[in-house]
Parts: sequence; structure tokens; C-alpha cells
Amino acid sequence: MLNSLRNILQEVNSASDFGALLEIIVNRVKAVMETGICSVYLLDAKQDTYVLAATDGLLQAAVGKVSMSCEQGLVGLVAHKAEPLNLEHAETHPRFAYFPETGEEKFSAFLGSPIIHHRTVLGVLVVQQQQRRRFDESEEAFLVTIAAQLAGIIAHADATGELARALSPELEYDSVSGQAHYSGLASAPGIGIGVAVVVAPAADLSAVPKRLTDDIEGELAQFRDALDTTINDLKTVHQDLSDKLNPEEIALFEVYVSMLDDNSLGGEVCERIKTGLSAQYAWSRVILEHIRTFSAMENPYLRERATDVRDLGRRVLGYLQQQQHEEKRYPENTILIGEELAAPNLADVPFENIRAMVSAKGSYNSHMAILGRAMGIPTIMGAIDLPWTDLDGCQLIVDAHQGLVIKSPSAQHLEAYEKVHAEEKIFAADLEATKDEPSVTLDGQHVSLWVNTGLRIDSMLSLDRGAEGVGLYRTEIPFFMRERFPSEEEQRQLYREQLEMFSPRPVTMRTLDIGGDKSLPYFPIEEENPFLGWRGVRVTLDHPEIFLVQLRAMMRASIDLNNLRILLPMISNTEELDSALILIKRVYHELTVEEGYRLDMPAIGAMIEVPAAVYQIGEIAKRVDFISVGTNDLTQYLLAVDRNNPRVAELYHNFHPSLLKALRIIIDDAKKHHCPVSVCGELAGEPLGAILLIGMGYEFLSMSAANLLRVKAILRQLKLSDMRKFVEQASLLTDTVAIESYLYKALSQQPEIARLVRPASSPSLL
Ligand code: PEP
Ligand code: MG
Repeated sequence: MLNSLRNILQEVNSASDFGALLEIIVNRVKAVMETGICSVYLLDAKQDTYVLAATDGLLQAAVGKVSMSCEQGLVGLVAHKAEPLNLEHAETHPRFAYFPETGEEKFSAFLGSPIIHHRTVLGVLVVQQQQRRRFDESEEAFLVTIAAQLAGIIAHADATGELARALSPELEYDSVSGQAHYSGLASAPGIGIGVAVVVAPAADLSAVPKRLTDDIEGELAQFRDALDTTINDLKTVHQDLSDKLNPEEIALFEVYVSMLDDNSLGGEVCERIKTGLSAQYAWSRVILEHIRTFSAMENPYLRERATDVRDLGRRVLGYLQQQQHEEKRYPENTILIGEELAAPNLADVPFENIRAMVSAKGSYNSHMAILGRAMGIPTIMGAIDLPWTDLDGCQLIVDAHQGLVIKSPSAQHLEAYEKVHAEEKIFAADLEATKDEPSVTLDGQHVSLWVNTGLRIDSMLSLDRGAEGVGLYRTEIPFFMRERFPSEEEQRQLYREQLEMFSPRPVTMRTLDIGGDKSLPYFPIEEENPFLGWRGVRVTLDHPEIFLVQLRAMMRASIDLNNLRILLPMISNTEELDSALILIKRVYHELTVEEGYRLDMPAIGAMIEVPAAVYQIGEIAKRVDFISVGTNDLTQYLLAVDRNNPRVAELYHNFHPSLLKALRIIIDDAKKHHCPVSVCGELAGEPLGAILLIGMGYEFLSMSAANLLRVKAILRQLKLSDMRKFVEQASLLTDTVAIESYLYKALSQQPEIARLVRPASSPSLL
């Protein structure tokens, strides 16, 4: 059955549209299970009913006409109970309902499986048979497996509007305007309106953006050139290896060459280019289709050929990309989109042109989201259904308050969003008024508001917002933008610039924190479980040659400024801390005693971001000058929720009572040991989070520059004594939702504060 399942899924993947896909499902499932009927019922959310959307076995006239609610019929029962129903003699079941228009009265055996996505029953997959029989366990498991696979496909169709069209074919407006919406995780607030520019990795067949061309002859000529170059490569390799290969292996080279000629793949692609598709896109589509066909073959030898086709496909695509390499253009209203946006993608985009960013992968606490917040660029992560390769050049609205991407918006949407966008600009301008005001609570408690930096642009924004220092300079960010490790002198210059920019204010430089989701292109770390693997100080302690160069560069950069603080990431035990301190002291000794530089020993700090460190604050405090809490990783490790995984993003609870308890332990123990403590995770920059942290006793908060004025404006309107009360009340509650809504309610009493803590609203047009 595994083979049948794989074949069905392969076919489904190559279906031309959603309707064809449902047809494939019902036809193939009926054939494989040897039943009389297979049907799919889909949820019509507006009517709250399950509509017959495709069938093989019932009357076609019933499609789109027959529907039932959760209270009706066996299909309704499967949906209601959200579990499979297997009946030998369906007519005798009390919930059996007869729908004459389906012509189903002759069928006795019934097996239905719910189609569930993210806890919502999106539909029901049903097989029925004339004879009385009970479907066996393996058949039931098969149907459940198909239904589980179908769930993701239906959710995607829902996002693209295809589901609505399948349920109500009269909804022509969508196909006319092409409007569609996709959801993701709102990761840096704001609204961006502009044109999509796809950022795709090179030579990746499934990442080629759909582009049309007017220059068909030119595309054909370049495509033929790329084929010729590949054929020449193959012939050269063939010649070089001819005495080392046996006849069958030599024959393979001939097969490859013949695959590229006009009667095979080459010809097929030329036909598509002639319809106006770019050579790269036409080639990638044809190759992907052939890979799917080969992968679906029963014969293992032929199935293996899928790998050869992919390899050939990448080669030709690589040549095409080399030939057609053109300076990428970023219009002044660019919306960057891609499968997995990362910091290096920002390297050549003019910052002022970016209106928004959307990434199919990643989550609220991915580093790209953090950069989005730092730069004040509306960002959506984890838009898993976004057909990003097809959106290049499309007009988009990115609503990063709701986590919504609207493609080809209607005039009505555009107008409404432009209005909200303009209001937001006014709100931001109002906040500017607090720029030069002190960050002091109503009852006189000063709270130092620092910034997190990494890019030159966010450092500049930070100065403009009146930051009192840098609580976290992520040194890995400039490392991402290069093709090799920066030399000591290159690093020194970078760090010097940062230290000078903020001098005399302190700058906390974190030593290289790679691993997890941050892999350098020239130092890839591939691991099964990277967040629990080789990360942060674990990497730098294992590579003293990298660590020592960085420490030297930092200390040399601080000469005459003496505003450097060094922060060590991912400390999980005292031994790591001791080893790092030995190296730091060694560098200081070499520079001052051996090389004669005059500089102060920088303050050294440890990040508290691994739960183990929370319970060793005393031991850590004895060894360092300060500690800094990384709530992003601390939350991920405490709750066992991958900060990058959109599937579990809803479990990443910023106000989880256990996290609040951990934060209390840290501040209380640090104070006991007279160790200064700051928070540099994202929680510090969230209005509600900042209030809780101040109420707990934290006096140094470091955040994205984009959040600084909002946090300052709030704390200036509250008393520390009130914030302490909020903390006491919150600590009596048992879950994140209760804590968050308590805080909203408590703070919404005063309209000026309510405006600052409430997330901005979006037009409710969808
Ligand atoms: C953190 O983990 O909270 C933190 C500040 O570091 P990063 O987000 O870079 O992992
Ligand atoms: Mg961290």
C-alpha cells in the first residue's frame, strides 16, 4: 500500500488545478481500495456545512449540491466527532441520512475519515461499497493517511481562494482580479504595500520565480546555449572516464545527452518558451514534472533515474542563471519574498526601498524576524502556503499586524490599507516626541533603554531614538554578509565603527553566536537537531583560532574608547564560562603586557538563555561582571518549542507562567549576588513584556530600535509600584492567555496607555 500511497501523492502533486486534484484522489482511492464509491466532502465555512466536492461512484450531478451539517448524516457525524467511522451496514445506523440526488441507496459499507488541519475538520473522505462488509484495519489506516495528506493541500487551496471557487464556482471575481490571500505569522508589525521581488537560491529547481518574456527568440537561443554547454560537459566527462567505466555506465552518458535533445526534454522546454515563459522557469517546470514521473515509477531502477534528471536539471539551470545573470532590481516599493529569507539576502537591497518582507519558512523569533523588527520593516514569517515562486512582480499588501499577504488587491483593499498606513505614520511621528525625554517612571525609577544592533542601519536608527547604550551587538550579522571569516583587521574596523558611534555609551558585543538557525555560508553546520547542537560558545571554544581573533579585534577596537563589554552566548555550565574567561584574559594579557597596548579590561557578561543557567546564577555571577537574559532562546528551551517552526508558533508563549518564574529567579538571585542584569531578548521590547520585567526589578532593557520609543512612552506613564502589582497579579494566573489578557485589561483603563499597548488594527475587509 505504501507504493500506492506514494503514487497517488505524486499524481496529486502534478495536478493542474484543485478540481483535477480532487478527481485524482477519488479515482485512485476508489481503485486502490476496490470500492464502489469514493467521495470528498469539504467544509463550506460560511454555511458551516460539508459539501460534496468530488466523487467517483455517486451521481456527478450531486457535486456541489449535496451538503450536510455536523448534525446531519454519517459524513456530519465523522466531522463532528473528528474521528474515522467504519460501518458494515450503514443504513441501520441512527445517523444514516438518505440523499436521493446522490443515487447512493445501493451501498452498505461505509468508511469515512475526517480531513483535519490544525485541529479544524476541513472535510471528510469517504469510501462506500455495495456489499455488506467491514473495512479492515489496514484499509482504515490507508484512508486516514490519505486524508491527513489531503489536509495540507486543502488548507493551501483555502489560502489561494481555490477552495472557495471549488465550493461556489459562481465566484468569478477572484479569477478575474486574481486576488488571493495567504496567512503567516505577524513578526514585525506594520503594513507594506508594494511589488514582490523573489529572492531565490541559485540552481534550485523548485525556487525559480515565474517570469514571462517578450524576447522569445533570445530566451530560446540562451536555452540552446545552456544545453550545448551541458552536452559538452557530459562528453568531456565521458571521454575522461571511458577507460574506467563499464559499457552500461557509458550508455548512461548517452542517455543523458539524448534527454537533452529536441525530441526529448529540450523540445518540450522550447515549446513552453514559445508560449512566453522564461527559459529558466520553463526548464524548471519540465524537469520537476519529469522528476515526479520517475519518482512515481514502480520499477526501482527507473525510480532512481529521478536523481539523474534532477542533476541534469540543476546543471542546465546553473548555466542559464550564469548567462542570464542580471543585476537584480529592487523598485522603491520592494516587498522581499522567499522560501527562507535570511540576513545575507539583505546585503544588496537598498534599505530605503524595502516596504515589507515575507518568508515561507521561519517564525516570530527567527533571526530574520528580529532583523525586521530592528529595522522597523513589516515582516511575516512562516507563510507556509505562499506560492512565492509565482509572485515575482505581483502587487502585494503585507499586513504584518494580522499576518496576512494579499496578492493583487482590489481598489477597495488598497484604499483601506493606505489609510491605515497613513495613520500609522502619524502615530510613529507622535512617538518621536519622547525621543529626548528621560526614561523614568511616574514615581521616579530610571530604566535604561538599550538597543540590539547588528546592521549599520539599525545602529543609526538607534542613535536617532536616544538609546542609552547597546545591550546586544550580534557580531554574527556582519559575518553573514561575507564569503569568508572577516580578518582581525576587518573585524577591528567594524567593531571600532560601532564603539565610536555610541561612545561614551557602553556597547555590549556578543561573541560569535552561530549554529541553530544561523549558519554561515562559508562554515555550514549541518545537524539533525541544530538548536540542541553545536551553537554559540560551544563552537567558538572548539575553534579558539576564530574566537581569539574576534576577541583581539574587539579589544583593539576599544582602545581609547573603553566602552566595550563582551557577552558570551549559550552558556550552559561553569566550565564553558571558565574556559572562555581564560581565553579572554589571555588576549588581554597579550595585548597589554606583550604588545604594549593601553586599554581597560572590558566588562565580561554571560547570557542566560539555557534553563540550566537559570539555576546557577550565583555561580555565574561570581565569575562575570554582568548577565544578560536572552528570552528568545530561554523561552524556546524552557517550553521545548522551536522558535523557528511555524507549526508550533502558537505554543511559543511569551507570558508562560514558567517563563515568568524563571525571570523572577534570575533577577532575585542576581540581586543577591550584586550582579547587574539586563534583558536583551524580544520580550524586553514588547510593551507588556517590558512592564512585567520592570515590575520584577529589571532596570536594563535592550530591544529593537523600532520598539524603543513605544516602551519609553509607556513606562513614563506608569508607576513602578503599579508595575509591581501587575507582576503580583500575573503570578497568580496559570496560563499565558490569562496573563496577557489581564495585562491588556489592566492597562487599557487609561486611553493614552491603551493606544500604546494595543496592537494596531487592520481594515476588516476579508
Ligand atoms: C535570545 O536568545 O534571546 C537572544 C537575545 O539571542 P538571539 O535572539 O540572537 O539568539
Ligand atoms: Mg539566543
